[in-house]
Amino acid sequence: MTTLVDHGLPNDSPGGQDAAALPIGVRELLAGASSSIVIDGHRQPSASGESQPSYDPATGGLLAHIAAGSAVDIDRAVRSADLAFRTHWRDLSAAARSRILLRLADLVEENCEELATLESLDNGKPLTEATYVDLALCAEVYRYYGGWPTKVHGDVLPVSPLVGEALVYTRREPLGVVGAIVPWNFPMLLTAWKVAPALAAGNAVVLKPSELTSLTSIRLAELALEAGLPPGVLNVVTGLGGEAGAALAAHPGLSKISFTGSTVTGRSVMTAAAQNLTPVVLELGGKSPNIIFADADLDTAVQGALLGIFMNQGQVCCAGSRAMVQQPVYDEVLERLTTAARQLRLGPGLADDTDMGPLVSAGQRDRVMGYIASGVEEGARLVTGGTAGDGAGYFVEPTIFTDVRDDMVIAQEEIFGPVLAVTAFTDEDEAIRRANATRYGLAAGIWTQNLRRAHRTAALLEAGTVWINAYNMIDPTAPFGGVKDSGFGRDLGPDAMHAYTAPKTVWVGLD
Ligand code: NDP
Repeated sequence: MTTLVDHGLPNDSPGGQDAAALPIGVRELLAGASSSIVIDGHRQPSASGESQPSYDPATGGLLAHIAAGSAVDIDRAVRSADLAFRTHWRDLSAAARSRILLRLADLVEENCEELATLESLDNGKPLTEATYVDLALCAEVYRYYGGWPTKVHGDVLPVSPLVGEALVYTRREPLGVVGAIVPWNFPMLLTAWKVAPALAAGNAVVLKPSELTSLTSIRLAELALEAGLPPGVLNVVTGLGGEAGAALAAHPGLSKISFTGSTVTGRSVMTAAAQNLTPVVLELGGKSPNIIFADADLDTAVQGALLGIFMNQGQVCCAGSRAMVQQPVYDEVLERLTTAARQLRLGPGLADDTDMGPLVSAGQRDRVMGYIASGVEEGARLVTGGTAGDGAGYFVEPTIFTDVRDDMVIAQEEIFGPVLAVTAFTDEDEAIRRANATRYGLAAGIWTQNLRRAHRTAALLEAGTVWINAYNMIDPTAPFGGVKDSGFGRDLGPDAMHAYTAPKTVWVGLD
């Protein structure tokens, strides 16, 4: 059985830890989080004065109160951002913008302990993951885009006018105010994916974090000011998705919306944006296959499959939630996966011996448990896990199903929890056909030592990212996004940078 570690701590201690042991900055932030809206460089409560509770996933206890922003706050934030864009940011030199983003990267690193602790408390993820994945990558994303402002340029075009001569060149210009709506699974990191390229290109940003994980966005806004970002260039409005998020998506003052979250909400964001013809980038859900061929190095393949599904408690858009294993090694791989899953220790994110933390919320736990029940009802075989912790925290055991048919709900829908479906396949054609047989297309993994098969398969998989003999590798230089119902547009890499600019064509008559 998976161990649910009993730390013997009272249910109301943050993250299952002694509150006095938390860094002082964390305690201050938790106490003052009801002023979580940041507009024009000032932290403030919502215009209505209303706030909402944010719960600690490890204990179910109250963590903080967050300002419940509404359409009024969003409107103020967009106007402030628009003014800051026109008066301060757009015309700042590329070198100056670069220095600010590079300084922000340094500040994220310097404040890593506090930020990682906040992230772990708010989301439930293990502190080691928050530190060495979320925050480490987050700093690198600001650093990568900090290098871009001085490298974005237009072109001189070799035109052949019908009459006369002309010099024609393009300028790459920022768009204006960008609305960024981010989810709760990697709050600081996914915020960086949107904020860093948008700012690097010279845009101002209004950020709406998830109501479940707003704490680090307050600190981000403060650190950005400390790095030298002019007030108003990055405004943060916390609040409910259906209120603050919906108001942002529908605001006519935006030049672009970048959204990460569920496919259902992505659709509603796109519908709202369409009324203003605001372009959108949508990074949505996934049901990613992780295909293990019989000739794979099974040690690394099994590790990759475990990482693919149990990292961040499976709350990862590109989670490898469908392990497809070639028949000759199926029994062995299933056995190894099951043994390893049973050894994972569940506990509060801040505890040293925790391998897997709680899910983000009671709602998410119930949703995941609903999927597990549906798997059992549809006839899949539960090999390990399948139960929720019996304490107040939102724990779900690492869970593995076999005998999963491709038409079952657990094979088709994004569960966003620690639930792996393991199925067998016979040959390459079957693996590719079944891997592509969902409405999603975010990511896929291939494990094989056959070079030709690896690249042949990679080309045929319908996915925005394919990992060969690897899983969940992310780098600021490598574009990330999906096809099909996993969305469109790309975060990261040069693609994201260019997506936050528009070319302006300038004609100069030479006659
Ligand atoms: P959502 O897609 O609803 O949330 C993502 C973001 O959108 C959050 O900031 C949310 O705010 C905001 N939001 C919610 N409603 C609206 C709206 N009408 N207009 C604008 N913004 C809105 O995800 P959930 O938190 O509801 O999670 C449900 C499921 O979505 C998960 O179980 C998982 O399957 C999937 N998901 C996928 C993610 C991914 O990276 N692909 C990330 C998160 C979820 P708030 O949180 O305050 O409601």
